[in-house]
Amino acid sequence: MDYVKSVFEQVKKRNANEPEFHQAVEEVFESLRPVFQKHPEFEHAGLLERIVEPERQILFRVPWTDDRGKVHVNRGFRIQFNSAIGPYKGGLRFHPSVYIGIIKFLGFEQIFKNSLTGLMMGGAKGGSDFDPKGKSDGEIMRFCQAFMGELYRHIGADTDVPAGDIGVGGREVGYMYGQWKKLTTLFNGVLTGKGLDFGGSLVRTEATGYGCVYFTEEMLKDRKTSMEGKTVVISGSGNVAIYAHQKATQLGGKVVAMSDSNGFIYDKNGINLETVKQLKEVERKRIKEYVGKHSGAQYTEGCAKIWTVPCEVALPCATQNELDEESAGVLIKNGCIAVAEGANMPSTPEAVKLFLKNKVSFGPGKAANAGGVATSGLEMAQDSQRLNWSFEETDKKLHSIMVNIHKSAKEAAEEYGTPGNLVNGANIAGFMKVARAMMAQGVV
Ligand code: NDP
Repeated sequence: MDYVKSVFEQVKKRNANEPEFHQAVEEVFESLRPVFQKHPEFEHAGLLERIVEPERQILFRVPWTDDRGKVHVNRGFRIQFNSAIGPYKGGLRFHPSVYIGIIKFLGFEQIFKNSLTGLMMGGAKGGSDFDPKGKSDGEIMRFCQAFMGELYRHIGADTDVPAGDIGVGGREVGYMYGQWKKLTTLFNGVLTGKGLDFGGSLVRTEATGYGCVYFTEEMLKDRKTSMEGKTVVISGSGNVAIYAHQKATQLGGKVVAMSDSNGFIYDKNGINLETVKQLKEVERKRIKEYVGKHSGAQYTEGCAKIWTVPCEVALPCATQNELDEESAGVLIKNGCIAVAEGANMPSTPEAVKLFLKNKVSFGPGKAANAGGVATSGLEMAQDSQRLNWSFEETDKKLHSIMVNIHKSAKEAAEEYGTPGNLVNGANIAGFMKVARAMMAQGVV
């Protein structure tokens, strides 16, 4: 059995019942085979065995009280995966589906994503199986305080800097920061995605969605075209989806479909972003309410069928494994030429293979959605300097980081014999920097 395969078998055995983690590891390992052929010293140094084992895994109890005085207990997680190239960095996810396997898949991906940004950030992820849906503001605050009541011991501006993810936006980051500050008496950049009044960065809210569209523009440039005039479908209606819509529209695209976990809306005139923002960001309602405000728009229950809406550009921005082989086939049949993953691992492995086989330009999440963490890195830099950069300056930096990520992935794909395959390119380019750092730092 070859080295890569034997380590993967070990991963499955040691991390049983964690299919998302296996999926993320397998995808990276498939790309890395030619790297290990070229660099036998990596095998000797046990790089793969080390990189799949988190440096530290923290699991904790989160007890909190609801508005009626009843006590609930959730599970908290923080997985500090790899610190070879910088302090641990990665978001927190609050969603009932969260368990150790989800956090490990996200943390593992984060190592390579952070490396691709070119900034000094290691990989981590965390969260809880807490469900924020239907909770009052007071319940959200008490949960965030309880969560931070344990997490604060394990994080710090130079050790581990969490941020948001599904279910964790500006409100939750604010509550967690307040609790962290109270417990430590410090004021520094221990969390990113903070409010602009207390150390947050302009563009952080928009960054993942904007970055995903900047990445898409680079892929379209390679096909001698652009976003101008393209029909776009975006799944999700959360932070990433909303700002992907905004940037795609600014660049001349027309977004005709969006979704939430209940269903999707279709508006042939182009979805009105202000209505979606009001519904999702302010009123925290369901996407189906959109059709009551825009005649001509349609709502369909269930989200998988969103990919049957004809489009040239598809941006999956909701959650893992939301776009399967069948959906990929329909997208291709309908003339889709570019897919960029705003979410983490939204396409199943079979869907990815089909896109690549059919020469659809495909931007994998760890490259296409790296704009969020990159701007978190910029927030850390501003916090350290006690300075605030302007929107334009920060957006310019984000844009140039996304252009560079695309370039690195494209060049690595070419160097290792699979031109145009940005999955291989992103995995290899992300891995090489971490591998060199691990080799230089010895066996630790
Ligand atoms: P939000 O919580 O703001 O939005 C998530 C969106 O996805 C909502 O519309 C939600 O619908 C939908 N969704 C969540 N779970 C499911 C599900 N199981 N099935 C169908 N739809 C679902 O999260 P974000 O926008 O921040 O994150 C979206 C994706 O982007 C995630 O994969 C995340 O890891 C990734 N990402 C986020 C970054 C960031 O900066 N925020 C950075 C990089 C990646 P509903 O409202 O019904 O729950």
